[in-house]
Amino acid sequence: VVCGYTTTDAALEKPITPSVKVSCTKLLINGDYVDSASGKTFPTYDPRTGDVIAHVAEGDAEDVNRAVSAARKAFDQGPWPKMTAYERSRVLFKFADLIDQHTEELATLETWDNGKPYEQAAKVELPMISRLIRYYAGWADKIHGLTVPADSPHLVQTIHEPIGVAGQIIPWNFPLLMFAWKVAPALACGNTVVIKTAEQTPLSALYAAKLLHEAGIPAGVVNVVSGYGPTAGAALASHMQVDKLAFTGSTETGKIVLQLAAKSNLKPVTLELGGKSPFIVCKDADVDKAVELAHFALFFNQGQCCCAGSRTYVHESVYDEFLEKAKARALKRSVGDPFVAGIEQGPQIDSEQFEKIMKYIRSGVESGATLETGGERLGDKGYYIQPTVFSNVNENMLIAKDEIFGPVQSILKFKDIGEVIRRANMTSYGLAAGVFTQDIDTANTLTRALKVGTVWVNCYDVFDAAIPFGGYKMSGQGREKGIHCLSNYLQVKAVVTPLKDPAWI
Ligand code: NAD
Repeated sequence: VVCGYTTTDAALEKPITPSVKVSCTKLLINGDYVDSASGKTFPTYDPRTGDVIAHVAEGDAEDVNRAVSAARKAFDQGPWPKMTAYERSRVLFKFADLIDQHTEELATLETWDNGKPYEQAAKVELPMISRLIRYYAGWADKIHGLTVPADSPHLVQTIHEPIGVAGQIIPWNFPLLMFAWKVAPALACGNTVVIKTAEQTPLSALYAAKLLHEAGIPAGVVNVVSGYGPTAGAALASHMQVDKLAFTGSTETGKIVLQLAAKSNLKPVTLELGGKSPFIVCKDADVDKAVELAHFALFFNQGQCCCAGSRTYVHESVYDEFLEKAKARALKRSVGDPFVAGIEQGPQIDSEQFEKIMKYIRSGVESGATLETGGERLGDKGYYIQPTVFSNVNENMLIAKDEIFGPVQSILKFKDIGEVIRRANMTSYGLAAGVFTQDIDTANTLTRALKVGTVWVNCYDVFDAAIPFGGYKMSGQGREKGIHCLSNYLQVKAVVTPLKDPAWI
């Protein structure tokens, strides 16, 4: 364990051997684990060492075809949309119970494949996942249309129907959480699913899909295709038999899949994309609390969060105090093998992200920001980076513009509320914001002015199942979680019938 990253990195030399065996490495199509049509596999790596964990079947266009055919058949011929909503909800409830019962296996796979702290996976993410599945299980038998008043004697009803086959593409930063966010609402609404996991983290979803089948999901209803974006992902986004596409990933790829969907069958698309979220500390904020939460908002999950509070705006009157404390907090952050209890930060996902983050750190220094602490690699294998804090940052610097997706906090100084609103909105993203103040008027002014999908006031990263999540501007289209997500997976049909001699209209 490296307690405080400045001490020793010797503990990084001997990674703990995970207690779980990797058992699911094939594609899950039509209820069976199968090899890819090409017979190809790809390696998935341990971010602590860069070593191969397992070779996983590599799906491409042909496998996507097979998976879509299975999902199509399960939708068009049943059984899934023909089961009662109550029966479907019971499968989801059972799935949530199985997730809880297999926390150790799932959290181990998640940490091993992704590098996130085991305690975070097991104690924070897995309970969130089963809770979210239960939330949507509860919705399954509460989805219904309306009887609508008409201007003439007609019986007008709206019927909420499942859309059909949902194609879903997810990233590597929260592999299982993203799997749940996508699959649970789609299933609750009666759709069938083909999901493509991220090539960096295929393992946990393949295991979870096995549990879904143990819970009683019929064959073909959920199909998991592991593989790369430009092959398997693009095939799914452009498939003519896919009725809806839900994508989470970078803004750049979001633009590509939107075009693929438009050029094929114009399937509706929801997008959860990147962010550069402001975290605003006002002059009357509780500074100690703000320091702790600003630290959490940025460094959580190795900084690999779409909603990371990656521009920390601090009022000039508390700036010096905040900076000292933020630096001290970063220096205390425990970095090390993510399987070790008490570790707050593990390695970054892979060498590509590692190099990208190091490049941004160099760019911060070159553009004149002050490197307060960190900035270096930790250990000599794997992808560990010191918790890094920059001060004297301004919006012209790349570190304040681009999504770094790493443990790099940028602190900016502001003078008044009008100025910070203008600067906070000076970005093409609009995912989230944090507001720290004890003044209700300041809080209300900021929450209404910020062009973002979520504002956390005196808190951050609160992700209850019922809270909608999504972006303004180039952070996305549509909302996930909560009631709002149901409409992503439903068609509304109006049915109009003339009324003969009605007693009332
Ligand atoms: P990415 O866009 O590279 O990959 C995301 C997924 O898209 C992967 O499954 C990948 O294989 C696939 N993909 C890549 N190219 C494709 C193509 N041409 N056609 C179809 N699919 C393709 O993003 P990433 O690096 O895996 O994830 C990090 C990004 O995701 C960050 O920008 C982050 O902000 C964003 N993210 C957003 C949210 C949100 O809810 N808004 C949540 C998590 C991550």
